[in-house]
Amino acid sequence: MFNVKESLHAVLSHLPEGVRLVAISKFHPNEYIEAAYEEGQRIFGESHEQELRGKVETLPKDIQWHFIGHLQTNKVKYIAPYITMIEAVDSLKLLREIDKEAAKNERVIDVLLELHIAEEETKYGLTPDACRQLLADGAWRDLKHVRICGLMMMASNVDDEQQIRSEFRIAHNLFDELKAQYFADAPWFCERSWGMSHDYLIAIEEGSTMVRVGTTIFGPRVY
Ligand SMILES: *Cc1c(COP(=O)(O)O)cnc(C)c1O
Repeated sequence: MFNVKESLHAVLSHLPEGVRLVAISKFHPNEYIEAAYEEGQRIFGESHEQELRGKVETLPKDIQWHFIGHLQTNKVKYIAPYITMIEAVDSLKLLREIDKEAAKNERVIDVLLELHIAEEETKYGLTPDACRQLLADGAWRDLKHVRICGLMMMASNVDDEQQIRSEFRIAHNLFDELKAQYFADAPWFCERSWGMSHDYLIAIEEGSTMVRVGTTIFGPRVY
């Protein structure tokens, strides 16, 4: 087994105060998660509903699960009872569905809005302008069972550090803009979820509050 404990501590040693680790455990077995759990790690991220369901049923109940993948609206009902945070919300439709299912469970679900800034083609994430528009539209204000806690994004998967850095900066600037315009009185709007295995040190320099690190902690994923 990959030395999860040692690599977990190596990552943690790089995190300044105020930056939390979401240990991305997708495609890794329970024993890997348990190894990190034994070292005190409590926040884990998964991207597939069925895989997550299996893990939730068999792992300690005080784990805080973050859903980090693209979430189909028809899957929201399965995770709504227990999910700690849904990180990749990129439409009003999904936000409404989360609100509806959270209400059924008599809870408020924390979410992040997912930005698409990277150059790569992907169907997912809001462009900065689409994100501005979603908030300007105002319909989200009626959703009392979701709480928008900040922004999430993935930088381009490139070696060019300057490019990665500039993408994080765009996200950080947008965060500041939206904070001032819509969330000045909302202390919970404070999360900037960026940084993965290959770029989390840059992400921290560029204002991340939450890094999502998988491979560096758990080793290569076996699909
Ligand atoms: C898989 C994944 C990660 C972790 O990636 P690593 O390169 O293994 O650290 C982070 N964020 C998202 C959204 C992911 O899907």
